[in-house]
Amino acid sequence: MQFKEIIGQERIKQQLVQTVKENRISHAQLFLSPVGSGAVPLAIAYAQYINCLDKGEHDSCGVCASCRKYERYIHPDLHFSYPFFASASVKIAVDVLEEWRSMLTQDPYFDMDIWRSKLDAANKQANINIAECHDIIKKLSYKAFEAETKVLIMWLPEYLDKAGNALLKLIEEPPANTLFILIAQSQDQILSTILSRTQIVKIPKLTGEEISHYLIENNGLTDHQAIDYAFLADGNLIEAKALAADTQSDSSGTFTSWLRMGFGNKVPDLINFTDEAAKWGRENQKNFLRYGVNYLRECCLILSGAEALVKLPPLTLETAKKLSEHVLSLPMAEAIIAELEKAHYHIERNANPKILFLDVSLQLVKIIKFKTLPAGTQYIYN
Ligand SMILES: [Zn+2]
Repeated sequence: MQFKEIIGQERIKQQLVQTVKENRISHAQLFLSPVGSGAVPLAIAYAQYINCLDKGEHDSCGVCASCRKYERYIHPDLHFSYPFFASASVKIAVDVLEEWRSMLTQDPYFDMDIWRSKLDAANKQANINIAECHDIIKKLSYKAFEAETKVLIMWLPEYLDKAGNALLKLIEEPPANTLFILIAQSQDQILSTILSRTQIVKIPKLTGEEISHYLIENNGLTDHQAIDYAFLADGNLIEAKALAADTQSDSSGTFTSWLRMGFGNKVPDLINFTDEAAKWGRENQKNFLRYGVNYLRECCLILSGAEALVKLPPLTLETAKKLSEHVLSLPMAEAIIAELEKAHYHIERNANPKILFLDVSLQLVKIIKFKTLPAGTQYIYN
């Protein structure tokens, strides 16, 4: 993986290259990055650059003996650790290394849902267990086979339970020429003992322009479509790709027609909608709910007089403006957002989509009709 293959993130690439040139590579780094921003490919490209035998100014050569092995993720001094689903045949991460490599080869932009689907793990609980921690300690205690720097990339240290403390000594005083890169999505969920021993590298989410540019180049979308999907994906390339793969979807159209049914108090239509939505499949259901949240957040900006900050594409913006001027109020929008977020939470946890979409649709009607807020919210509507 070379830096040039990675979308956007120019500032971070430069920063990483600089640490190599100035010989100040911190031995334990925590890449903190939102899902779909490319932290995994960045970490691999960084490690490849460090070990490249013929480094360029800005990138690894891609063809030396080290790069060739890195490109296939088979370098003997490149180790990976990641959450997995322990079973009788899978005791440590290496037991599913083939699946991991094949996922990386297919597309280095992935998330936990994609990894879960590769492992066919259904609803099992993933983690990075004590056996895996011991395997890491063992692996890193060996001398490097051929590289100057041994690298261990751990994806999602959030999945380390208390067992993670077994790694503290290793992270604090690693064997010579060892680089530890942890890639996390959420700082709050990492053991504080680990957090305090690593250097944090914050990787921003991709910009709307970077994503829409990618979609136009790679998926042949029109500008309008690409901007719409980039908006919906909110910096997450994985999601943008999933949306682009399903070019039939018209997120803004579907969502605004759902809102219209609510404002028109058309309960029979909403019930029909619920039946349809139940057949979409979980990813599309999640997309719909997420789109709704993003869309209404933009409406809140319009309603608060901050229209200059709104990122909607022109046609969608027109509808949002009309809606905000005529029927929607700020507390209403906030209450609907809360319902959509709640539904998203439950759909991720395998709730029955039919019941769920019916519930959120009826809540919509209730919020509009009675201008009430869901139980538990503190806000009092006047
Ligand atoms: Zn090279």
